[in-house]
Amino acid sequence: MLKSYDRLFIGGQWVAPAGNGTIDVVNPTTEEVAGRVPDATEADIDRAVACARQAFDEGPWPRMQPAERAAVLTKVADAIKADMQGLAELISTEMGSPVAWAAMGQVFAPAMIFDYYAGLAPTYSFDEIRAGLMGPVLVANEPVGVVAAIAPWNVPLFIAAAKLGPALAAGCTVVFKPAPETPLDAFRLAEIFDEAGLPKGVLSVVPAGREVGERLVRHPDVDKVSFTGSTAAGKKIGGLCGEQLKRFSLELGGKSAAILLDDVNLAEALPMLLPNSLMNNGEACIAQTRILAPRDRYQEVVDALVEQVGAMKVGDALDPTVEVGPLVAARQRDRVEGYIKIGQDEGAKIAVGGGRPMGIDKGWFVEPTVFVDVDNSMRIAQEEIFGPVLAVIPYDGGDEQAVAVANDSSYGLCGSVWTADPDRGLAVARGVRTGTYMLNSPIPIDFATPFGGYKESGIGREFGPEGLELFLEQKSITLPAGYTPTL
Ligand code: NAD
Repeated sequence: MLKSYDRLFIGGQWVAPAGNGTIDVVNPTTEEVAGRVPDATEADIDRAVACARQAFDEGPWPRMQPAERAAVLTKVADAIKADMQGLAELISTEMGSPVAWAAMGQVFAPAMIFDYYAGLAPTYSFDEIRAGLMGPVLVANEPVGVVAAIAPWNVPLFIAAAKLGPALAAGCTVVFKPAPETPLDAFRLAEIFDEAGLPKGVLSVVPAGREVGERLVRHPDVDKVSFTGSTAAGKKIGGLCGEQLKRFSLELGGKSAAILLDDVNLAEALPMLLPNSLMNNGEACIAQTRILAPRDRYQEVVDALVEQVGAMKVGDALDPTVEVGPLVAARQRDRVEGYIKIGQDEGAKIAVGGGRPMGIDKGWFVEPTVFVDVDNSMRIAQEEIFGPVLAVIPYDGGDEQAVAVANDSSYGLCGSVWTADPDRGLAVARGVRTGTYMLNSPIPIDFATPFGGYKESGIGREFGPEGLELFLEQKSITLPAGYTPTL
């Protein structure tokens, strides 16, 4: 057993859970239990919310100077960086992320996010005096209150940072519900916050499933829900928040398209594109899983992809040379294999992969797979598979046709364009209705800039100052003429 907890982190203290249920964390490579934590109940949620409410209404955290809050976030970022390998191995053991990728994508990136908000908070203009139309007005940006942060299992520490970084920088208090698959890194983060001196009451970490999570969403003392997960769950949560006029932001699924223009240099583009298409075993909301290729270069694109995807090393997530690890759970492998069957039934052809890797008799592995002869109307082109499965889709006509195919999707999270002509690429980027876009770039998200979804990929933008503003309420205070407050 890797790591076991018998307490929950509620209001900054390790306390006995109200119930006696437990969650087993199973290593997807070995199928063995790697950790165990308490399964939080509704009573635990109520207790966590009560702590957060009190800490918000009466505690020091919302009333501190932004620089004081930033100092805690800096310590958290430093502690994460000091334990990069340990945290990467922990997350790889929880959910199968290849450890070499995990060190950057699952651990260093969250540290960058905490560092970014630590840097932003002291310089952000929380109070602004405006001239107004009828006299001076103080526009005060105040913390929104008690935040429910709900995260999926695929990039667990990253999503925690995307929520806790700006929420805490803003002065909010937080009840964080990690996914039941990945509670261990969340508890490690709780320990790190505790060691960094976060005041008691400000943070709770309560791992649980959907039903208990819904209690958190519905709780009348929660002011704001920050959710990342599937579009189906996002619709449910958005509806529940709407009933209570509770503030909410949603980061949801994607089916992003990489557009190869007819002048693309494949030898340069594919090594930048492919790691984004199959990142984290394809269990990534921003994965570029639709690859749009001009008809007259289609075969050339397919040949290059088959060669490169076929050469990827599949295996134990903890092996630093592995590029594709196991999927998070048996049910996720069933889902991915189900889509591989659907694709074949729809008439698409498997060019490489499609089965389970030879010589591996344990673990929830699926070979990285490339489908060809895919029409964009097929389910494998429209639905989020969340596994290492790519669909190569030919397009006829010019750049506008490629943009039309990319936009023929209910999602709008990410995307990319690859071309020898950046002006052409920028025109394509402007035409695609997604919240984030890459022009000949391997970098899908820059944490100083907004990230989020158009259409069914979400509501709101995380990262950048926009990510902080998700956790602020604006209050306008009209002032008497001639009065200048000390800010
Ligand atoms: P999921 O929606 O099943 O669960 C996500 C989290 O929400 C879990 O903690 C789960 O317990 C909780 N949850 C689910 N229903 C709930 C409800 N009704 N009330 C309260 N909590 C509830 O998603 P998942 O399978 O864990 O994660 C994969 C999904 O997350 C994919 O669709 C992926 O695209 C998406 N995702 C999006 C982003 C983004 O930034 N847009 C990032 C990562 C993952």
